[in-house]
Amino acid sequence: EAKRERGNQVVRFDRDIHERALRQFRLEAWLPNAVANGEIQVFFQPIVENGNGSIAGFEALARWQHPELGWVPPPEFIRAAIETGCIRDLTLGMLRAASRAFMPYLEAASRPYLGVNVSVSDINAEDFPERVAAILAEEGMPAERLILEVTEDMLLGDSGNVAQVLGRLRALGLRIAIDDFGTGYSSMSYLSSFMVNIIKIDQSFIRNLIDSSSDQKIVRAIVSMAADLELSVVTEGVETPEQKELLRQMGCRLLQGYLFGRPQPAHSWLGEKGLDLEAFQPFPAT
Ligand code: C2E
Ligand code: MG
Ligand code: MG
Ligand code: MG
Repeated sequence: EAKRERGNQVVRFDRDIHERALRQFRLEAWLPNAVANGEIQVFFQPIVENGNGSIAGFEALARWQHPELGWVPPPEFIRAAIETGCIRDLTLGMLRAASRAFMPYLEAASRPYLGVNVSVSDINAEDFPERVAAILAEEGMPAERLILEVTEDMLLGDSGNVAQVLGRLRALGLRIAIDDFGTGYSSMSYLSSFMVNIIKIDQSFIRNLIDSSSDQKIVRAIVSMAADLELSVVTEGVETPEQKELLRQMGCRLLQGYLFGRPQPAHSWLGEKGLDLEAFQPFPAT
């Protein structure tokens, strides 16, 4: 009996591997065309001021709906984009589309910023800063309103090339955020303010924040360190009013999470008169 079970498990295991490989194969076959045809959509998720609830910014998040596969999770197609080498086109396409969709928000009273995610292959390309500058110029997007989000692992060691590219990007007037802070491996040397401007605390520290005193200590330590280094902090994955209140006590000013809004098509945050603060309910009653 045990033997047969194990036998079945092996069969199922093989089938899982097979199905996963097949899916990966399909994603990699379809994705470059989807990118080239402009099928990657831009969704916006707000970043909110913990004080008055105004919108401090929006993060642009890539979405891909495939006719057969449906909505493909971003981490899955981002990985496929890196494997197939179309990540450069995806990133620059996202930057262009997000800048264009952001135009109506430029005049909003809270002067929100636009956050765009960037991958390690983008940062490693020598001409990336020039490509970014060209798109901003073409789309009429002010660099001061743009934040590029890079993950911690990208800053591994002190690879001279990454530091140099980041420096040239910063020289354009845009800001750099470290995404998913606390989950990667890296040296602390990049935390000097000439490398980055913003730390985004990873949502894994927020998930159990209320019950986990160690997560609370970590968040407090990051907030205090960021203040010393004159870096801004954004807290990701805020889902409950209790988390929001605790984060307020901890001095976290900028929050992002389902509590304030899920990623949605860019225009859905707009009313007839621009940014729709009526429809936007940053702190819903509970
Ligand atoms: P990220 O940059 O850390 O983006 C935040 C992710 O957290 C998004 O997932 C967002 O939908 C999700 N999120 C926001 N608030 C909450 C919350 O309250 N609870 C929970 N559980 N999740 C929340 P998404 O859109 O699935 O993207 C996942 C990752 O894929 C992103 O993580 C980013 O690393 C990558 N990604 C997405 N779009 C792009 C892109 O255009 N370029 C690149 N290079 N990577 C992208
Ligand atoms: Mg991000
Ligand atoms: Mg993140
Ligand atoms: Mg993440």
